[in-house]
Amino acid sequence: MAAKRKPARKPLPRVRSVAQLRSAIAKLRARGERIAFVPTMGALHDGHLSLVRLARKSAERVVASIFVNPLQFGPNEDFTRYPRPAARDRAMLASEGVDLLWEPEVKDIYPPGDLTRVNVEGLSNVLEGASRPGHYTGVCTVVARLLNAVQPDHLWLGQKDAQQALILERMAADLLMPVRIFRGPTVREEDGLARSSRNAYLSHAERQQAVALSQGLAAAWILLKEGERSAARLAAAIRREWDGYPLVREDYIAIVDPVTLAPLKTVRAEALVAVAAHVGPARLIDNFPWRGR
Ligand code: AMP
Repeated sequence: MAAKRKPARKPLPRVRSVAQLRSAIAKLRARGERIAFVPTMGALHDGHLSLVRLARKSAERVVASIFVNPLQFGPNEDFTRYPRPAARDRAMLASEGVDLLWEPEVKDIYPPGDLTRVNVEGLSNVLEGASRPGHYTGVCTVVARLLNAVQPDHLWLGQKDAQQALILERMAADLLMPVRIFRGPTVREEDGLARSSRNAYLSHAERQQAVALSQGLAAAWILLKEGERSAARLAAAIRREWDGYPLVREDYIAIVDPVTLAPLKTVRAEALVAVAAHVGPARLIDNFPWRGR
C-alpha cells in the first residue's frame, strides 16, 4: 500500500544579507512578476497574516521581512524583551505561501558608520510621537532602507498603526519612492481587542481589561453614528468607558484630522479617533477612521 503523503508545503526561501536579498528579488523580477512587501517585527499574529493575504491578492509575489528595529525603541522601551519566536514566525509565513522572507541583522540595515536618518516633519511629534520621542525617525529610517533594498511595487501596512501608515505614505510621496501603499483593516480578537504582539505582555486580569480600548472606541463610534460631532464629548464618552477599568491608564484620547493629525473641535467629513493606554507592562494603541455620510 502506498504511504500517505503529507500535502507538499511550499518551502519558504529565507535571506539575511542585502546582497542575498537583491539576488533573490532579481530572480523573482526576471519573470516580470510584481512584488508586494509586508514588513514586520515578527511575533506574528492574524493582523500580520491578514496583510500577507491582502498582499498576495495585490501582486504575484509576496516578500515579508522580520526585523526588530532598535532605532524605533526608546531607551526605556521593550527592545530587548520584544518577543522573537523565529521558528513559529517562519512556519506561519510558510503556510501563507510567502515567496521570500528577509531576516536582516542590525548590521545589514545599519552598516558601519551609518549616519543617515529620515524624518517626516510635523506628523512625527504628535500622538505616538509625543509619547515616544524619536520613534517615527526610527520607523521612517528603517522602512526607507527596507524599501530601497526590496524595491516592491506594493507596500502593505496596517490601519492598526494609523499614524505610522500616514507618515510612511507622506515619506514615500515626498521622496518620490515608486511604491503604492495600501492599508489593511485592523484585525481584532473576539472581544474587540486589536491584535498586537504586545498583548503577550498582559496578565489574565490585564488582558480582560484591555478590552477598554476597543470598547471606548465603540462608544465613540455609536455617538458619531447618532450625530454627535463635538470632539470633547466624544473623548469624554471614551474616558467614561475607561473609568470602569482601573488597570487601564490613559496616555491619550485624540480626535484629529486624518491627514494633518491636528486636533479637531468639531468632527466634519473625516476624523481619526485614536487612543493609547498603559495596561500593566504593555502600552496599547487602537483607532478607527471616521468618514461621515
Ligand atoms: P509590527 O510587527 O507591529 O511592526 O507590525 C507590522 C505590520 O502589521 C504593520 O503595518 C502594522 O500596522 C500591522 N499590524 C499590526 N497589528 C495589526 C492588526 N491587529 N491588524 C492589522 N494590521 C496590523
